[in-house]
Amino acid sequence: MVAGYIKELFSSFQGEGPYAGRRQVFIRFAGCPLSCIYCDTAYARYPEPAYCTVLNKGSVSRIKNPVEHYSVIHLVSELLTPDTHSICYTGGEPLFNAVFVDEIAKEARRLHYRNFIETSGYSARAFESIARDFDIASIDIKLRSHRAVRDDDYESLYDNELDCIRISVDRGLETIVKVVVMRGTPVSDIEVISRALADLRIKFVLQPVTDNKPDIDELFTLSEVAGSFIDDVMVIPQVHRCMGVL
Ligand code: SF4
Repeated sequence: MVAGYIKELFSSFQGEGPYAGRRQVFIRFAGCPLSCIYCDTAYARYPEPAYCTVLNKGSVSRIKNPVEHYSVIHLVSELLTPDTHSICYTGGEPLFNAVFVDEIAKEARRLHYRNFIETSGYSARAFESIARDFDIASIDIKLRSHRAVRDDDYESLYDNELDCIRISVDRGLETIVKVVVMRGTPVSDIEVISRALADLRIKFVLQPVTDNKPDIDELFTLSEVAGSFIDDVMVIPQVHRCMGVL
């Protein structure tokens, strides 16, 4: 029996990337070692919240943390609807709780749920330990300008992200790579990343940050540069912010 810290459990529509609009049950794990300047889930970065909030069709309840993995599966099953596409393991940063995530994912697999993980890719070792239990991975690449880590630690973060992407592709997961872009994002940053991913079978998403987003000419340029190296490139904003959902 494995227990861990969850910040929120709820059903909603995926708001990012090629699965935007798909209904998912979201498990928002607590804790994240990064500090991106655009973070919109900073409330989930504290690793040991006292309670997990469960939102179920207008009703709100609280479960005491840490929660056992079987209880998580039970709560997930109560949130399932006929249109549910998959279980979304998000954060915070799910790899921060890799052992706990793995126990839940294994049980979800046994029940034939589809598993989807959203991660910053900060730890390739942690990702490798859970990859076999997932169907779809959305992995971020942080730019230096996102200030996710101290400048001295950026190369290590970048290498881990690339390794996570390679592991995901090698293991046969559908792999989505997401880069948040802002006004003034250097074209050279996107070119370097796109070159590094050129041989991999991925979907590449440029996600304009909701505040301080690039103008349309910047987006055209960034998309064209990425498309010079990667077949499947798309620009998709955060759809859930338009819909006013979590
Ligand atoms: S990785 Fe995600 S949760 Fe962590 S600081 Fe960045 S945006 Fe926020």
